[in-house]
Amino acid sequence: MLIDSHAHLEMPEFKRDLEIVIQRAKGSGVEYIFTVGTEKEDWKRALEVAHSYPSVYAILGVHPHNAKEIDDQTYPMLKELCRNGKVKAYGEIGLDFFRNLSPRDIQLKRFREQIGLAKELGLPIVVHDREAHQETMEMLKSEKAEECGGIIHCFSGDNEMAKVCMDMGFYISIPGSITFKNAERFREIVKKIPLEFLLVETDAPFLTPEPFRGKRNEPSYVRYTAQKVAEIKNVSFEKVAEITTENALRVYRLK
Ligand SMILES: [Zn+2]
Ligand SMILES: [Zn+2]
Repeated sequence: MLIDSHAHLEMPEFKRDLEIVIQRAKGSGVEYIFTVGTEKEDWKRALEVAHSYPSVYAILGVHPHNAKEIDDQTYPMLKELCRNGKVKAYGEIGLDFFRNLSPRDIQLKRFREQIGLAKELGLPIVVHDREAHQETMEMLKSEKAEECGGIIHCFSGDNEMAKVCMDMGFYISIPGSITFKNAERFREIVKKIPLEFLLVETDAPFLTPEPFRGKRNEPSYVRYTAQKVAEIKNVSFEKVAEITTENALRVYRLK
């Protein structure tokens, strides 16, 4: 059994064949999929998908790309939607200083506010950090994010950062890029992170692992990521599947 801890099934890339994609995931041993609605237009669709399929749960929040779109109605609406039992975390929230689609000062302000909102809602957070490691860690510390805990998704930091995250009770989620030929440094980092803190994810439709790199990603491919983690840690695929599943069930409080 595997869990895809982070995907975007509400995105238009899955409009045509969602049912088949979810079935294929089941067939590959993916028991649960967590779909992340990142902006207003996607929240209701993510919930709709979660309600249509017993194996799908939702995560809602405002992505750093969309931070500039937050207005007076955003948080009240999210509070209402997040009360739904199918919502298991708040996110993805954080900082993206690579694409900078929202101004940095606004990203910081909205990240801070949303950590507070997640705590109020009693939900763990899913953190997006791209090229903003230091600022992300400073924010998690200053806002006492250990009180809600959660996941650093698509982890791209080093072992020092991983240690601080783990000390704060955060899990570290590994995407398909770990399978890429040029990801040797990333594999060395993951090798040293204890399995007890790892999750696996697709971030589908993005970040497709080898051997499908270049095509649309989908939850069934999460097993290639788990397989690579097993390989670099020199443990069985079954063990990686078992421990990462337990971790996901714990952080999303499904057991
Ligand atoms: Zn992300
Ligand atoms: Zn994502």
